[in-house]
Amino acid sequence: MSLPEPSARAFVPFVSVANMMALIHAIGLEKMLVELADAIEADFRRWPAFDKTPRVAAHSPDGVIELMPTSDGEQYGFKYVNGHPLNTHAGLQTVTAFGLLADVATGYPTLLTEMTVLTALRTAATSAMAARYLARPDSKVMAMTGNGAQSEFQCLAFKAVCGVEEVRLYDIDAAATRKAVGNLKDRGLRVVACASPEEAIEGADIITTCTADKQCATILTDNMVGAGVHINAIGGDCPGKTELHRDILLRSEIFVEYPPQTRVEGEIQALPEDHPVTELWQVIEGTAVGRTDARAITLFDSVGFAIEDFSALRYVRGALQDTGLFERLDLLADPDDPRDLFGMLARARPMPG
Ligand code: NAD
Repeated sequence: MSLPEPSARAFVPFVSVANMMALIHAIGLEKMLVELADAIEADFRRWPAFDKTPRVAAHSPDGVIELMPTSDGEQYGFKYVNGHPLNTHAGLQTVTAFGLLADVATGYPTLLTEMTVLTALRTAATSAMAARYLARPDSKVMAMTGNGAQSEFQCLAFKAVCGVEEVRLYDIDAAATRKAVGNLKDRGLRVVACASPEEAIEGADIITTCTADKQCATILTDNMVGAGVHINAIGGDCPGKTELHRDILLRSEIFVEYPPQTRVEGEIQALPEDHPVTELWQVIEGTAVGRTDARAITLFDSVGFAIEDFSALRYVRGALQDTGLFERLDLLADPDDPRDLFGMLARARPMPG
């Protein structure tokens, strides 16, 4: 089954969770992580071409629902995503998402897809892509604090994109660590289950923090972070939801996605508005410096930005071609005579009797 051209409006391709999983297996998880990292990097390189706005967040006592739009003038994309750290107690995901891509010229959607699984891949690919620029090139060991839904994707992206060989796992819930150890078995990584955060970060070149708690938590204290480390902080992504002690920020070279969003949502919400940060896209483009020396502490204060989802949506649309891994969704009313919407409805009325 082929995808329709944006101008052929017969149906909207829809990728269900089952088809997304089939697509990932057809491509190969690590290959897809590498290709997504490259796609996201390519879009960061043309950052000025995008419409950018901080995501629109609706906060509630236990979580947040967010809309994340962007456009490059030719295509428009948005993601609906939630973050509810207490959900796992009720057997639900902390983060779920779906997204849409549309043709700017007509406004017609060209893809609707699940994005819960895709978000885990795009977040991992973004983290590893950033580390390619910010971590020491000889980095081989990563500590992974928070062993929930995102964690295995993070570990495998760092293996595939950055050449990490050992992951040291820690979670306050030992069952989460056991799950991650099981999932990462036979995947080409040395996997070490750790009983404390200190044990996890011992000898780590990269520290990923990926915990979920709606508070200003202290997953890492200042004395735990030594010279030369790269911190990939992805769990602090909402006002009042952070992971790092403020003193770590004061010792770090800080890199962010989109400052107007990160100042509100990221670790740097603990710092004054004018504290210097570097935009990652400028490092990639070559107009800003990344890590200054081997002893510097680099921090990717990641909150997740709409352009990463846009890149992932475009990647999926491209990868779908000729796979048949989508359904034809009757999403848009499209009468033959565009002004005869009423006539189309009238003709669809069931015949009496
Ligand atoms: P999850 O609920 O599946 O997993 C979170 C894990 O953190 C749980 O296993 C929990 O036991 C553990 N945890 C909580 N407090 C801890 C602590 N003090 N020390 C060690 N472990 C602790 O959530 P997830 O889907 O894996 O997401 C993790 C976080 O990443 C969330 O906060 C989410 O909002 C964020 N996230 C960020 C991005 C981004 O682009 N930056 C993308 C997706 C998710």
